[in-house]
This record gives sequence, structure tokens and C-alpha cells, in this order.
Amino acid sequence: VIRCRAAVSWEAGKPLVMEEVEVAPPQAMEVRMKILYTSLCHTDVYFWEAKGQTPVFPRIFGHEAGGIIESVGEGVTELAPGDHVLPIFTGECKECAHCKSEESNMCDLLRINTDRGVMINDGKSRFTINGKPIYHFLGTSTFSEYTVVHVGCVAKINPLAPLDKVCVLSCGISTGFGATVNVAKPPKGSTVAVFGLGAVGLAAAEGARASGASRIIGVDVNPKRFEEAMKFGCAEFVNPMDHDKPVQEVIAEMTNGGVDRSVECTGNINAMISAFECVHDGWGVAVLVGVPHKEAEFKTHPMNFLNERTLKGTFFGNYKPRSDIPAVVEKYMNKELELEKFITHSVPFSEINKAFGYMLKGESLRCIIHMDG
Ligand code: NAD
Ligand code: ZN
Repeated sequence: VIRCRAAVSWEAGKPLVMEEVEVAPPQAMEVRMKILYTSLCHTDVYFWEAKGQTPVFPRIFGHEAGGIIESVGEGVTELAPGDHVLPIFTGECKECAHCKSEESNMCDLLRINTDRGVMINDGKSRFTINGKPIYHFLGTSTFSEYTVVHVGCVAKINPLAPLDKVCVLSCGISTGFGATVNVAKPPKGSTVAVFGLGAVGLAAAEGARASGASRIIGVDVNPKRFEEAMKFGCAEFVNPMDHDKPVQEVIAEMTNGGVDRSVECTGNINAMISAFECVHDGWGVAVLVGVPHKEAEFKTHPMNFLNERTLKGTFFGNYKPRSDIPAVVEKYMNKELELEKFITHSVPFSEINKAFGYMLKGESLRCIIHMDG
């Protein structure tokens, strides 16, 4: 058992509290890792607020991080102490029909489960305070100096890759980039709309640029985002608040009938519907990435589909975490993918609550939390 610091969320929406926790050793097919850097993604914030999501408390949040393997459980052969790794919120067992399919990353055993607060091996938590369990989040719980993760939720990466940068590939940037390049697949010269210009949306814009899109239209209700978005190849903006008509109509007018592709990265149901309805009939494809309110319902007229529009959704940009992410890290190493521009803030672990404030105010893209501070 390791005793270390963790930022525990005791109650919905209340500041995290720095506690000493006990972290149990890894069981069969699990690893224990030392987290060096973690960052905050909006998904952590939704489940911490627990306004539109199931409340599970007390809990240790965090899923976007980089670290080093400390020890491995029985049966783990692919990872060893000292390996540099990214924990991933959705896993890859490499054995199920999904893992064997080239078209899916929805592993039967380890796919994202937002409401489970325990490890699948024994249905228990590896975190305790004075013997009382503290629940996991997304199988990763990276707001702790040490955490236990299933081996299938760990990507082993190049040890030369700087973990304070590539940690953002453990969720947001891979998700947005993959949503465009793996799912929306814009042909060269196409027009792409991106809804929500946070880190995930701007990574989607980066994916559009890498695919050779000729126009990238950014949509956000926060005008502060627009200046930042220019660095990501996004040169046209629409703020839905500036218009009396639905934003999909505004976009249709700007684009002679609609965009070729759209990628939604807001989590807002109305933006999801607009993102679908703004694609061109005949060939347009919309991809949903934002995590919706648990009671949200998607409403659109079926004629929008009959008119040959396609609606898709994705977790983690359809990347298989273990098989694909090492190569995405290499893209950064080869300077094909810039990560620095997504990192707008950094705080020591002791000030993790500040990272929540930056995101809630719409000031940050990614805030890196340094675990040694
Ligand atoms: P963020 O808060 O940094 O960015 C979201 C942006 O959306 C903000 O700039 C906000 O102003 C904008 N927005 C909100 N409502 C809007 C609306 N109605 N119209 C236009 N813009 C609107 O968050 P993020 O960390 O970039 O995450 C974005 C979304 O992606 C979240 O919903 C998150 O949960 C989700 N996510 C999904 C996956 C996945 O695998 N599918 C992975 C990571 C994050
Ligand atoms: Zn995330």
C-alpha cells in the first residue's frame, strides 16, 4: 500500500480537498502508476458538478494525464516499472469483437463507463481513507499522486516524449483530432464547422487543417475563444448569440447550403442539433463529441436524414488507446502535431481548484497540473 496525496471530491460542486489516501497494490491485469502531470477536461467538470450526470461521491476525478509505471499486477507482461504511459478513459482488451474490428474502439470489457466507481476485477476501489473507499472515475482517477488502472487502459509511449505536454493526448487533443481525421474525414478542400472552441474543438479544427480543409468555421457562445482559434486555422466565426435565427441557417447562408463536415465539441444538445442541421444535404457528415446531459434528447426532422445527411458520434476520436496512441505521440515528436498552443495555464497540484475556475470561466484551454507542487 502506498500513502500519497490525492484531491478528493467529497460533494458535488464543492472544492476538491487535498487528502492523504491509501492506494492498494495493483491486482491481476492492473498497474499502479505515479502520475506526474494531469490536466482538466470538461468531462471531469460535468461529473464533479453532477448537475446533468449521476452523482458518485466521494470520488477522485481526473482522466487526462501522463505518468510512469510504479508496479504491475499478476498477468501483466506488456508493461514494467519505469515505462512512460498515458492512462486512457476507454480501454482496449485486444480480444473482443470491437478490439478485433478495424471500425470500432468500443471495447466490450473496458469501454468508457462514467458511472462505475470501482475496478472491474473485484468490484472494489483501490483508494481508501482510514479504510473507507473513495471511488474511481473513468477507471483512471489521475488527481492522485498514485493511481491503479487496468492494463487495457494504458498506452505505453516513447520515454523521450515530455509528459507535461503529451499528457493532453490522453483525452482532449486525441479526441478532437481523431473526431475529424478518423470519423468526419473531410476531403481536401472542404468546409468544416467546429462547434465549441475549447481544447477538444480546437483539436478538431487542427484535424480539419491537417486534412486539407479550405474553410474552417468556428462556432462558440464565448467570443473570447475566437482570437485563440485563429492559431488553429479557424478564420471565420459565428456566435449563435449574435443572431435571431438558428445558427444552422446562418451557416447555410455562409456556405451556399451547408458545410461538408461539422464536429460538435460543446456537450450542449442544441449545438448538437445545429451541428447536424448545418451540414450540406447529399453528402454532409456531422460528428458529435460533446458529452450530453443524461436526460438530453436529440430531435430533428427525419427528412434531414432522407436528404442524405449523416450523423455520427465518437469517443476518443475512434482511436484504440493501446494500438494507436503511441503513434499520435510520435506525431508530436516529429513536429506534425503541435501541443503547446493548447496549454494555456499551469498550476501546482496543491492549487488544483484553480484549474476548475479557469475552465468554468472559459479562460483556459488546458491547464496542466504539476503533481510535485
Ligand atoms: P471546454 O469547456 O473547454 O469547451 C467547450 C466550448 O463549447 C466552450 O468554449 C463553450 O463556450 C462552448 N459552448 C458551450 N455551449 C455552446 C453552444 N450552445 N454553442 C456553441 N458553443 C458552446 O470543454 P472541452 O474540454 O474542450 O470539452 C468539450 C466537450 O467534449 C465536452 O462536452 C466534453 O465532455 C467532451 N469530451 C468528449 C470526449 C469524447 O470522447 N467524446 C472526450 C473529451 C471531452
Ligand atoms: Zn476528457
